[in-house]
Amino acid sequence: MILILGGTGEARELARHVEAVSSLAGRVTNPRLPRGEVRIGGFGGVDGLAQWLRDNDIHAVVDATHPFARQITANAFEACGRVGVPFLILRRPGFTPRDGWLWVDGVAEAARNLPGERIFLTTGRQDLAEFAACPQWFLARMVEPPEPPMPQRIEVLLSRGPFTVDGEFSLMRSREIDVLVTKDSGGSMTSAKLEAAEQLGIPVVIVRRPPLPPAEVVRTVEEAAIWLENARSSR
Ligand code: NAP
Repeated sequence: MILILGGTGEARELARHVEAVSSLAGRVTNPRLPRGEVRIGGFGGVDGLAQWLRDNDIHAVVDATHPFARQITANAFEACGRVGVPFLILRRPGFTPRDGWLWVDGVAEAARNLPGERIFLTTGRQDLAEFAACPQWFLARMVEPPEPPMPQRIEVLLSRGPFTVDGEFSLMRSREIDVLVTKDSGGSMTSAKLEAAEQLGIPVVIVRRPPLPPAEVVRTVEEAAIWLENARSSR
């Protein structure tokens, strides 16, 4: 049996092509479910995941989680090493960098470097607290409603991609946005805001991806499917 650590479009796509059990963290109330078997909720750290891999006779793990889901990737790398299960990271490429982007190493650094007053924040609900002390006005877009702490002056937009360039352009213009803050998530579902920001001449503050553990990494679903096929035939 194969385990896909999911929560991304790539994870759902991979689950369409291989027989696997997909795992979701359970953060979203109405998640887009992958095809096939799905389990939901944390494993209980490295120990819990290692035990789960043994109990379910898993013979390969593909981590197709979001590029900023750092903890689960670190845990999976360690648990697979411990149990002796082949482990692959599937990570889509980051956004193609554009001139003038202000790169920062984390969300906290982004909060300290806001070159404007009306901020479009697309880093997600879990990072909102980092901006709580900022005096600027925020338009914050996320999938699930946020909980405090959060900035005092804020409009929350509950929405899930994909988004279009026209839609992003109109949204940013209607709120008189003068800075876009985002993560280097990559992919086409959320890249329209970058194009819209460029058209509007708005500065972009972009958070670098966290480093990966020293595991094998592929960038596409096709490569992951080939890796799984090889892992199966070399058992
Ligand atoms: P995280 O900080 O790396 O993980 C925190 C804990 O959540 C993990 O230790 C694990 O709990 C549990 N967890 C995370 N992903 C899981 C999965 N696929 N299956 C089972 N348990 C999981 O993760 P996160 O940033 O909160 O992201 C949670 C999920 O949302 C991920 O699956 C990710 O693909 C998706 N997502 C994240 C972002 C983002 O910006 N971070 C954006 C879009 C989607 P235990 O230690 O108890 O096992």
